Amino acid sequence: MKIDKRKVVIVGTGMVGMSYAYCLLNQSVCDELVLIDVNKTRAEGEAMDLNHGLAFANSSMRIYAGEYSDCEDADIVVICAGVAQKPDETRLDLLKRNAEVFRSIIDPVTSSGFNGIFLVATNPVDIMTRITCVLSGFNPRRVLGSGTTLDSARLRYLIGDYLKVDPRNVHAYVMGEHGDSEFVPWSQALVSTKSILELCRESGGRIEEARLGQIEEEVRTAAYKIIEAKKATYYGIGMALTRITKAILGDEHSVLTVSAMLRGDFGQRDVFVGVPCIINQNGIQKVLPLSLTDEELKKLEDSCNTLRSSFEGIF
Ligand code: NAD
Repeated sequence: MKIDKRKVVIVGTGMVGMSYAYCLLNQSVCDELVLIDVNKTRAEGEAMDLNHGLAFANSSMRIYAGEYSDCEDADIVVICAGVAQKPDETRLDLLKRNAEVFRSIIDPVTSSGFNGIFLVATNPVDIMTRITCVLSGFNPRRVLGSGTTLDSARLRYLIGDYLKVDPRNVHAYVMGEHGDSEFVPWSQALVSTKSILELCRESGGRIEEARLGQIEEEVRTAAYKIIEAKKATYYGIGMALTRITKAILGDEHSVLTVSAMLRGDFGQRDVFVGVPCIINQNGIQKVLPLSLTDEELKKLEDSCNTLRSSFEGIF
């Protein structure tokens, strides 16, 4: 009997990595979960802690602190390892240091014979995903970042709250950089099958377009507010990473706004950026060709230009 086991390796067992791990366990998403951190003791402690919850879980899972050689037969390697910015360090210096951290991770992962999918959460996520693609030499379709998946979830929650509709029936995306230049293509935002802009126009002033602009700004600044209140954000991203993982392991063909390499899509190339993609067991099956307005295309171009210039000088 052939038993296919779903195996995930997390590199970086800090707040983000472990919120993701906890979510994987609670949703029974994989059969084997390997935790790797430069701080091995921390990874071991986290594995112990999770294992002690197994008696209450819905299914069994093998969880352990491992080595890079454990990546050999993994389906997905998820990178949540990060280094904090030092005082007086420039953004480019931080990026260069992060690139070195990623080299110390990606080289041993690929040397293990790993042949699965890289999923990146480390910020700045679009740049770190591109760095992962360059360092691994993998086909870009097998390298994805969390992109604007979390931002899109925040958007759907806030629209749902405003319109009193279940966020799961709100179909709207945040596109572009996971950061200040991200934007909402409102022309593509729907409640069920109804355009939100049309709902606004037909509501006789009850639904205000100005409020939609405020919601977009709230999404853009959400991380700053959470960090101010509790120093870091991790539950939302843990759930977003879990959602992406389920789409891959379940070969779901689900649409999620991951950070993907554009190859002529929306007139852009040579950049990793958050766009709606169809996700299956091979990673990014396809970037969804939305009919953006000229204004939205310009916002995407500006965001891509920001990301391209941030990448310059790293290598
Ligand atoms: P954290 O400091 O709690 O954890 C980082 C972990 O990485 C630590 O355990 C550290 O030991 C480990 N690490 C550092 N260098 C390593 C190396 N060379 N090899 C292996 N492990 C290494 O940080 P966090 O709060 O978990 O955040 C992690 C990253 O996720 C940050 O870059 C953060 O900005 C990012 N993040 C992304 C999103 C998103 O939407 N993509 C959301 C929240 C946070």
